[in-house]
Amino acid sequence: MYDVFIIGAGPGGYGAAIRAAKNGLSVAIAEAKALGGICTNKGCIPTKTYIESINLLKQIKNSKRFGINAEGVSFDLNSINKRKNRIVSRLVKGIDYLLKENNVKIYPSKATIIAPGRVRVGQDIIKAGTIIVATGSRPKIPTFMNVPGIWTSDDVFDLKDLPSSLLIVGGGVIGIEMADIFATLGVHVTIVEAMDRILPLEDIEVSKEIEKIYRDIDIITSARLSSIASTNPFNVVITTPKGDIQLKCQNVLVCIGRQPNLPKELIDMGIRINNAYGITVNKYMETSIQGIYAVGDVTGEYMLAYVAAKQGLVAAQNIAGEDVCMDYRSIPSVIFTQPEIASVGIPADELIGKDYKIGIFPVSALGKARTIEANSGFAKVVANQTGKIKRVTIMAPHATELISWGGLAIDQGLTIDEFLRPVYPHPTMAEILKEASEDIFGFSTHKP
Ligand SMILES: Cc1cc2nc3c(=O)[nH]c(=O)nc-3n(C[C@H](O)[C@H](O)[C@H](O)COP(=O)(O)OP(=O)(O)OC[C@H]3O[C@@H](n4cnc5c(N)ncnc54)[C@H](O)[C@@H]3O)c2cc1C
Repeated sequence: MYDVFIIGAGPGGYGAAIRAAKNGLSVAIAEAKALGGICTNKGCIPTKTYIESINLLKQIKNSKRFGINAEGVSFDLNSINKRKNRIVSRLVKGIDYLLKENNVKIYPSKATIIAPGRVRVGQDIIKAGTIIVATGSRPKIPTFMNVPGIWTSDDVFDLKDLPSSLLIVGGGVIGIEMADIFATLGVHVTIVEAMDRILPLEDIEVSKEIEKIYRDIDIITSARLSSIASTNPFNVVITTPKGDIQLKCQNVLVCIGRQPNLPKELIDMGIRINNAYGITVNKYMETSIQGIYAVGDVTGEYMLAYVAAKQGLVAAQNIAGEDVCMDYRSIPSVIFTQPEIASVGIPADELIGKDYKIGIFPVSALGKARTIEANSGFAKVVANQTGKIKRVTIMAPHATELISWGGLAIDQGLTIDEFLRPVYPHPTMAEILKEASEDIFGFSTHKP
């Protein structure tokens, strides 16, 4: 008998387990595959280790601009894979250690809910005061694309050889990060995106700029992969408003989103499901069935590791008797392209036609950016008429770090004046936020 039983040890589940245990509850967690979930094993961490490798490769190839001669630069895919495996394995061991150190019992198996308060793991029936469902998600793949040889993000780590050409279906965050990795490693990449621009949830300036930066990648927008005529190599048809395009490529990678791993038994129990086919939860992460909470991708809404982690903490704290709730106003979006892209606040499309004050500052005008040979990108700060910061977009080196400042400003309801009160060190990339904020009043010192 445990106070809490958690199903799934991704960032939502293992974070909830550790927090519940730290709050004095007895906790068990079941994981059918690997501790750390998709994030650690097939998502955030593997992609970012590859991205660090390709960014270093780009940097070395660009070294002449820094006055450094580096001849005969090449990469070894096997070593890049090994580095990824080493990092993943260390993190998984770290999670195992942390769970055990906090006295969380780990069941390395699939768990099935029999009823609220009762879970089956193998032959064992385990009782728990509360159950947290943190079963995550899997890649979405339309039936006609589900043919042998088609890849999803689950298939691309640990490749022995690179394809000569790759069609990526979906120009969202995962599709663009994958495109950057493969294109930098010399693969001819084509992206097909159903919307009229890649990264359609970001500001339009971001989509335009990233298309310019990735001019080696073929980008076909307002288009859909409509049929697969043959496989290995693939002959596919892409339907566009101007007619069909026949395309030949060695591999196809589908990145059109993810779908929640809904435990079948919960559907049978009549648990409430939302429009994203995830489990409906309230702000305390409670589902429609008393005693069962759900966190992370299985709720279908955000599909981000840091949202899963936060939801896990909220669930654990509430189960432990604290009164905390999820607040989605300051959830950042981060994209690890080069330059990085990050935004936070009200959605970009909600700004259109509204009376907001906007300040913009280009990367190319910032001293620090010049020292690192960075020219592309900008920061944009949006405030309402009373000066409260409502959205921040950064496309710049270290944008994924800098965005937390914007998140704090929005979360705390800071005005532009309050945001500008601290002294920003020089020369730093953080100054781009200062200059963009000053630009709202027309006072930016360095804006050209
Ligand atoms: C290629 C890629 C890149 C990504 N990059 C980022 C990024 O940079 N930043 C970011 O924030 N997010 C990123 N994500 C998204 C992130 O990985 C997910 O949002 C996050 O992993 C969700 O965490 P979770 O705890 O909800 O579920 P998961 O991490 O999916 O973990 C769920 C776990 O539950 C286990 N499980 C399922 N059913 C059972 C069962 N019945 N019994 C026992 N165990 C079970 C699964 O085996 C799995 O390990 C990326 C995703 C992908 C695919």
